[in-house]
Amino acid sequence: AFDVLVIGGGPAGSAAAIYAARKGISTGIAAERFGGQVADTMGIENLISVPYTEGPKLVAAMEQHVNEYEVDIMNMQRAEKLIPAEQTGGLHEVRLANGGSLKARTLILSTGARWRQMGVPGEEEYRNKGVAYCPHCDGPLFKGKRVAVIGGGNSGVEAAIDLAGIVGHVTLIEFGEQMRADEVLQKKLRSLNNVKIITSGQTTEVVGTDGKVSGLNYTDRTTGESHHVELEGVFVQIGLVPNTEWLKGDIELSQHGEIIVNDRNETSIPGVFAAGDATTVPYKQIVISMGEGSKAALSAFDFLIRNSAE
Ligand code: FAD
Repeated sequence: AFDVLVIGGGPAGSAAAIYAARKGISTGIAAERFGGQVADTMGIENLISVPYTEGPKLVAAMEQHVNEYEVDIMNMQRAEKLIPAEQTGGLHEVRLANGGSLKARTLILSTGARWRQMGVPGEEEYRNKGVAYCPHCDGPLFKGKRVAVIGGGNSGVEAAIDLAGIVGHVTLIEFGEQMRADEVLQKKLRSLNNVKIITSGQTTEVVGTDGKVSGLNYTDRTTGESHHVELEGVFVQIGLVPNTEWLKGDIELSQHGEIIVNDRNETSIPGVFAAGDATTVPYKQIVISMGEGSKAALSAFDFLIRNSAE
């Protein structure tokens, strides 16, 4: 059995594995796909002290760093079920999709999240070529340009307000008859003069020219008419879904499915910690996930020295 078993190999899991292994305790990391969302990212400009890198390069660097230590890396392993220890300090079990199971005295859950996609033609094709999901990450790439934000919930409206300060023009498209964001955010959005708000709009296609986004088509759901908007970027803000379906019923989750953690990354189960995009920590970013993973590992170590069975 491991002292620390990390589930998930993104920035949070990598940081957790490194911090745990540096304490000289037996550490394992099981991940469905090492690298996580970073593997799907192009340019990264906000990892402090690294002015520019690219997703695959950062994934290789994370893996190399983890490999500096005695960490048992189990790549392409999907966790399917958590069986918590019967007593505090006992062994937790994680069942894998391949039929195997792993045991550990502490767990760090860092299975990340995925952006909900619109599922319309052009979205996948122009991903990272104008279709973006993270305004904090990609907003500055559209300086002075025209963008759309899809979704009028809190994240969509926050994104539109944020982007309006950077880009030339923002069109917000909400599917429902009204935006769902908090009224203060809607009020702020309406006060901005470079923002157009479209409600009852269903995006039907992302259109491109020369390999880049050049517009989008949407249907007005009240009249059934189709419209075309010329623009250079589309920010999809219809939800970030935590990869926690496998934990339902075994650990406390928020109404959005995020693992509830406190400021020491403790979950509702003693000896089980969590970090990164899969948790309730606000602001989902690489540098934040790395910090949270590190904190979770230090908390796990603290738990181990206070609950040594022998
Ligand atoms: P993830 O990176 O999501 O990693 C989750 C890990 O868990 C993966 O290894 C996955 O395979 C594994 N996993 C999931 N389910 C299971 C399971 N059941 N069993 C085993 N393993 C499992 N942030 C920035 O700071 N700057 C940027 O420029 C930036 N750009 C982005 C661009 C894109 C296109 C996307 C999608 C995200 C971007 N982000 C950016 C956000 C950033 O990638 C995330 O905040 C960060 O990767 C979260 O790290 P994490 O370790 O919590 O989760």
